[in-house]
Amino acid sequence: MRYHDSPPSPESASSVSPDRRWFTRRSGLAVGAAVLAPTLLAGWVLVQLTTGAGADDARPPRIVMPAAVPSPTPSSSAAPAAPAAPQAKGPLAGKTVVIDPGHNTGNFKHTSEIDKKVDIGTNRKECDTTGTTTNAGYMEAEFTLDVSRRLRTVLEAKGLKVVLTHEADRAWGPCIDERARIGNEAAADAVVSVHADGVSSGNRGYHIILPAKVKGGAADTAKIVGPSRDLGERIGSNFARTTGSAPANYLGSGTGLVVRDDLGGLNLSTRPKVFIECGNMRDAKDAALLTSPEWRQKAAQGIADGIVGFLGG
Ligand code: ZN
Repeated sequence: MRYHDSPPSPESASSVSPDRRWFTRRSGLAVGAAVLAPTLLAGWVLVQLTTGAGADDARPPRIVMPAAVPSPTPSSSAAPAAPAAPQAKGPLAGKTVVIDPGHNTGNFKHTSEIDKKVDIGTNRKECDTTGTTTNAGYMEAEFTLDVSRRLRTVLEAKGLKVVLTHEADRAWGPCIDERARIGNEAAADAVVSVHADGVSSGNRGYHIILPAKVKGGAADTAKIVGPSRDLGERIGSNFARTTGSAPANYLGSGTGLVVRDDLGGLNLSTRPKVFIECGNMRDAKDAALLTSPEWRQKAAQGIADGIVGFLGG
């Protein structure tokens, strides 16, 4: 079933990207306004910047500046120009963050593909997994993509370059080795894989998964163990602050931190990287948070604050 708190998701509603559909709807308005009053446009942009537009809104998840509309004809096939991104200053200048939305909403339909094993250096492991759902059917993969998009918006507003490992642009995956490779090839200064857990009811709270020191095949995490812990601790404390959530009550001894050596996405990373499990989708109280767009915005803000602190901003 689909979800109770959001309109049809972009991937199921249409093959046209949400940005483009929004642009098509709104470009006539934007062009008309451009003729009328540039000062009104400035206000319009400010509203777009401050309303926290996300995947649950009819508004766009990314900002398209009206001034960048390329043609006075709404039917033009020309793509909108890239928004004028703010320039990062100081320690954030030139930094890249890779965000990995855990799983993929299409994985449930491609179990034979995602079950194929890939080399994670220390072992061989399934390409990807389906992820979990709430009892009402809200998919972890939907959650992770929504939080990742919100996180991107916050980080881009700081002038950071942000790369998502996937974005409803493929039927399944990517495999865990490719997820790691995307962070490595982007020379990411920080990588965060966004998840929510699926354990029995009564288990609540968030935890951060840190890479263990492993070596084998293409896996060698010696250089990232230290900085990844710093990244993870900063994300955890900021996430707790913005969401009010407590560290997990079922692992990590109340620290909200867990070290694992069995995750390909961490073992194969050469860049500082952590996973965050934002809550337990199978617990009714946590699920009420995870399905709230307002809470997801707080979650994204907390993760972003941790990343920015790690990067020295
Ligand atoms: Zn997951």
